[in-house]
Amino acid sequence: MNEITVKIQQGEVKRYKDGYPLLTKDCLTNPEVLKKEGQILDVTDERGQFIGKGYHGEQNKGVGWIVSRKPGEKLNQDFIDRLILKAIGVRQGYYEDASTTAFRVFNGEGDGFGGVIIDYYERYYVIHWYSEGAYQFKEQFVDSLLRNSDAIGIYEKKRFAKAGQYVEDDDFVTGEQAPSPLVVFENNVSIAVDLNDGAMVGFFHDQREVRRAILEKHAKGRTVLNTFSYTGVFSVFAALGGSLKTVNVDAANRSKEKTAEQFAMNQLDAEDHDIIVDDAFQFLKRTERRGRTFGMVILDPPSFARTKKTTFSAKKDYKKLLLDAIAVTEENGIIVASMNHAGVAPQRFRKTVGEAFQEAGVPFRVLESFGLPSDFKTDPSFKEGMYLKVLILQRKDG
Ligand code: SAH
Repeated sequence: MNEITVKIQQGEVKRYKDGYPLLTKDCLTNPEVLKKEGQILDVTDERGQFIGKGYHGEQNKGVGWIVSRKPGEKLNQDFIDRLILKAIGVRQGYYEDASTTAFRVFNGEGDGFGGVIIDYYERYYVIHWYSEGAYQFKEQFVDSLLRNSDAIGIYEKKRFAKAGQYVEDDDFVTGEQAPSPLVVFENNVSIAVDLNDGAMVGFFHDQREVRRAILEKHAKGRTVLNTFSYTGVFSVFAALGGSLKTVNVDAANRSKEKTAEQFAMNQLDAEDHDIIVDDAFQFLKRTERRGRTFGMVILDPPSFARTKKTTFSAKKDYKKLLLDAIAVTEENGIIVASMNHAGVAPQRFRKTVGEAFQEAGVPFRVLESFGLPSDFKTDPSFKEGMYLKVLILQRKDG
């Protein structure tokens, strides 16, 4: 494919020269040349001076990614091989750790190629494509994994339907089919995943360190309310860490059987726990009215949520959610507050937390603070990629 040139507006050149990888329409003087996803791009300033090489792929606010800073670089098989080998190399520790068999192998721009993410589950690899343009590199990535990794099977998630939605399809690509469910380990805890059952496989690697902290330090002797519980993995770690009981609340019907399955994987009796399909905001309000409290409340809402009864934006409404959580947390109880909206900086999240406790008139302290684990490698010039902020907070009622 012939390369085309896109030019960065003069006022934005410094930022791109300093390493910013995401091409946005409003930073280009000639976005009209972008007609074909997957097109290889020469990125220059207005005078034609080289900035980088990239590709056209429409994703969220972006229209493409810069993936090399070398003039004349060919974005061919050899280039992809080098990225994959490097990504695998920096994760040797994860590959060698038998107690954790699920982690992220390739984290988009953090590993040099925005728009492509690869996750590892017991020698099965799942590639997430975030644009049709990224998908044009499928053959090279799949081929590279087959030659350079321990892959026995490869799956994919096409996340480029309207507004970044997942394209419903058979996600098996090549190799052996994975069992359903496939059982992986995270710090020796068993987790059931399903690699070919829609957009989500059943758990998120990014909270690994938080789950470990809950198991090792915070759950013992506490009753746990796990809101936005999905498949209940936080609760499994809490239960194994000695919690008295967990109550799981998620709006999705499927959370019920999926959560029971995760408990069963670890020889825990789901009957000892509550798994409730409900709107978490309503559930919190009702719990407060009834005067029921918990020793630990876990808040892991999506950035945006809309149900028949509520609309939630993590950016705007997190303080309200915290107030509701504080109201159902026992004296000296713990709140695990997770914010995964990239648009809220860590300091701003801390401020929101401080304001909520102040408004509630409850003193608190921050026990622990987490960002992304190291397998979620990030690009220092792309702060948006560092989306996860988790605080473990404790009421200090004296
Ligand atoms: N905490 C989970 C991940 C949460 S994913 C884990 O550790 O694996 C977000 C979840 O929020 C989804 O399962 C979704 O069904 C749920 N959700 C979205 N809106 C909700 C609402 N209003 N009330 C309860 N659950 C909601």
